[in-house]
Amino acid sequence: MPFSNFNIPDLLHLLFPAACFGCALPLISGEADICSSCLYSLPYTDHHLDPNNLVARQFWGRLPCHAAMAMLFFKKEGTVQQLIHHLKYSNQANLGIRLGILLGERLQSSPYFQGIDLLIPVPLHKKRLARRGYNQSEAIAQGIAEVINVPVSNRHLFRTSATDSQTHKGRLLRFENMSTAFAVQHPEELANKHLLLIDDVLTTGATIEACGISLLQAMPEKISIATLAYVS
Ligand SMILES: [Zn+2]
Repeated sequence: MPFSNFNIPDLLHLLFPAACFGCALPLISGEADICSSCLYSLPYTDHHLDPNNLVARQFWGRLPCHAAMAMLFFKKEGTVQQLIHHLKYSNQANLGIRLGILLGERLQSSPYFQGIDLLIPVPLHKKRLARRGYNQSEAIAQGIAEVINVPVSNRHLFRTSATDSQTHKGRLLRFENMSTAFAVQHPEELANKHLLLIDDVLTTGATIEACGISLLQAMPEKISIATLAYVS
């Protein structure tokens, strides 16, 4: 068959099939970043339908928030861990946008996440941003924005200092470390707004809690929380 019978994208796909970021199998035509099988079988939480879900309860007594959710359960060695790994370390902002669109579809269909005025991704420290090239939480926010048509802000909430690697620290110590890590500029633009804080993975909640406490100083109407994944 002469090459002229192929269009260029199909030909490139035949020669260099892209792999699914979840299971590493080759993608077929019409799939992008994540294969249909992974998309179908991801461990969705359905938190957006339950106002008293595990993530919401995690913030009770810590941060007054209107609604909170994670889209996926994070399990070690699972598909979600693969996706998050590629999102953070393989320079895959597009994957973040794609996952953000899935999250945005859930927010849109939830009665608890309506009337959001501004999407605020958890900021990265400048040095890490320079190393990674993009903020993965901002990529997720961009995907959400495509669905619910709400602007993304990367200029109101910012990091005040580089925080140490926190992998081996307990919750109390983490909070002490995080409590002064964020600050808000142009607070008057956040007053009386419904803010949605966005992060990739929720573990102890210390980062989101510290962000939320900083944002409260701007007197928003409400703060809600959405993350891609939740480590239970
Ligand atoms: Zn897959």
